[in-house]
Amino acid sequence: MAININQQTLSNWMQTYPLLQKIMQTEEVFWKNLSLCQAETVLPFLSISTKEIEEAANRLTRFASFIKTVFPETKSTNGIIESELKPIPAMHQYINQTTTNAILGKLLLKCDHDLPIAGSIKARGGIYEVLKFAEQLAIEHNLLTLEDDYAALAEQRFKDLFSRYSIAVGSTGNLGLSIGIISAKLGFNVTVHMSADAKQWKKDLLRSKGVRVVEYESDYGKAVEEGRKQAAENPMCHFIDDEHSTDLFLGYAVAAERLKAQLDQMQITVDEKNPLFVYLPCGVGGGPGGITFGLKAIYGDHVHCFFVEPTHSPCMLAGLMTGLHDQLSVHDIGLDNRTEADGLAVGRPSSLVSNIMDSLLNGIVTVEDRQLFFFVKHLIDREHLFLEPSAAAGFAGPTKLFNSQEGKEYLADYNLQSKMKNSTHIIWATGGRMVPKEEMAVYYQKGVNLNSQ
Ligand SMILES: *Cc1c(COP(=O)(O)O)cnc(C)c1O
Repeated sequence: MAININQQTLSNWMQTYPLLQKIMQTEEVFWKNLSLCQAETVLPFLSISTKEIEEAANRLTRFASFIKTVFPETKSTNGIIESELKPIPAMHQYINQTTTNAILGKLLLKCDHDLPIAGSIKARGGIYEVLKFAEQLAIEHNLLTLEDDYAALAEQRFKDLFSRYSIAVGSTGNLGLSIGIISAKLGFNVTVHMSADAKQWKKDLLRSKGVRVVEYESDYGKAVEEGRKQAAENPMCHFIDDEHSTDLFLGYAVAAERLKAQLDQMQITVDEKNPLFVYLPCGVGGGPGGITFGLKAIYGDHVHCFFVEPTHSPCMLAGLMTGLHDQLSVHDIGLDNRTEADGLAVGRPSSLVSNIMDSLLNGIVTVEDRQLFFFVKHLIDREHLFLEPSAAAGFAGPTKLFNSQEGKEYLADYNLQSKMKNSTHIIWATGGRMVPKEEMAVYYQKGVNLNSQ
């Protein structure tokens, strides 16, 4: 599957893709997707249908009574795992003061950093896939019907069934947390294969919940590969495949209709005259890809979705720009895939997601690690919000849209300039709730130190 990139290929690419040189020098960029198509035209032809999002949403509703029973922190939302959408006026004002061009329109934060159970965006896709697997097993063994009250799944007879099965996953940290916590709660044997980027506290937390953690000295791709191989040897093992999984993707996609309900509630219109911009941190692509897919199904071309990746790990950007998708790794273009944004330290995008994003994604922005600490610090100071560095990547989105040459060209190309005063910008915060206080203090201090450099 790996391809051979020689010097000739690289110099040809440099001619074809003017941004590539900057990307290879780990400079921040704003990339506009030239393959973008009208959402309405392409959606019916993609490998996943928008109807499947509805099924996923219904499945999560069926599970709500179980979730509420075993995770009391979801009582207030009746067992629906959801986060707030809220204005961040002090941060908005601060960004406007420190950049040349202000972010026009409204600036909102989607608080997935605060999602219950797993404390990150992975509480959407990861938990969904495990629930779906559990439902399927319970139905096959005649312990459950679709009409039952799923609170029953907390009973011992279900644990007895699930304990005969295993679940495995490869992760840089947060996916492992979400899969580990929900699987252990249901009674599965669960193994998490952790890449070298994974933080110690995440491994410790999982072990304290009875999860088997296998550590690797290499990056995410290797952890997934090993996990997949070991799982394949065991017919009773379900491997959660972040690089190919439709279920993960659909679990994330459900976020879109929930977001629409929140925007409606806030009386925020999205249409031709009132464009919506959404900025999503991207690792392998499942989370941001699923959400983009869901949003395009609802808002069509009135929503502009941008991924944000670290300058050292722009895997989706490299894959989409060259059209090579998962065949290209960031190492092939001379990058090291080393970033403090552990949730985004991925060298190769999901093939499933990059193929779908090829025609749906509006663009990608890259961000330096030091910027992430800047955002983390100022969110604490100004909004009292606690995000992990990966989770703050979205802030680079609107900053670059309004301030980079390419961003300004984007607005001009789509005739958006006059509409920007009516625009809404949603930054998707993707993780942070579970970060221990001492760790957060270290992130904060890194943000403070930036000022004195
Ligand atoms: C996993 C993760 C993402 C990105 O999701 P992918 O599905 O890997 O693209 C973003 N932010 C955080 C904090 C994450 O843990």
